[in-house]
Amino acid sequence: MTKILIVEDEPQMVAGLKDNFELEGFQVDSARDGEKGLKKILDGNYDIIILDVMLPNLSGFEVCKRVRKKGDNTPIILLTARGEEIDKVLGLELGADDYITKPFSIRELIARIKAVLRRKDDAELLKSKSKSVTIGKLEVNFSAYNASDGSGQVEMSHKEFEILHFLWTKRNTTVSRDEILRIIWGFEESPTTRTVDNFVVKLRQKIEMNPNKPQTILTVHGIGYKLIS
Ligand code: CA
Repeated sequence: MTKILIVEDEPQMVAGLKDNFELEGFQVDSARDGEKGLKKILDGNYDIIILDVMLPNLSGFEVCKRVRKKGDNTPIILLTARGEEIDKVLGLELGADDYITKPFSIRELIARIKAVLRRKDDAELLKSKSKSVTIGKLEVNFSAYNASDGSGQVEMSHKEFEILHFLWTKRNTTVSRDEILRIIWGFEESPTTRTVDNFVVKLRQKIEMNPNKPQTILTVHGIGYKLIS
């Protein structure tokens, strides 16, 4: 559920927004001055903040600036008055994600909220997909099924990726051959544990500096393997 915080001192405005947001299925919290708002933003775990600029104690501009200074990237939409310096609002100095000028239609605000949340989701997806991990001498991107070493792209089969990924998720713990068989092949087409060993030999040739003296995929005698990272 989308958690939204309204920082605004006018009770009627808060009540109106709250009703409409709840109809949208958002979970709504509010704060009625800049100081309380800042504290809630930094303590809480909101998906998006609706932040009025004209607030007692700390202005919305100041709240926004301090939130970003703390390294908090929660999306913020500012409620501005006509004539406010919009360049400043959206500039790097403040780091707000969008703004809407009072008086605004609630429909328009909700559309902006959804657009900002969508942008955030897209950015996060991109980030997690492009993330690669170092395993032995390889840089591996599991979502792209892509591996490379210092000299370039390394060819790996789908199965090799799957086994490596499984060992990676269980890194620094011992995984038995039977467990690998069960997870990667399932019960249907279970080959013998010897098959697992053959795949590990192939993986080591691509991952290890010296495949004869493995330091990344270790053999745990009588049980299985352990990926060190
Ligand atoms: Ca206000």
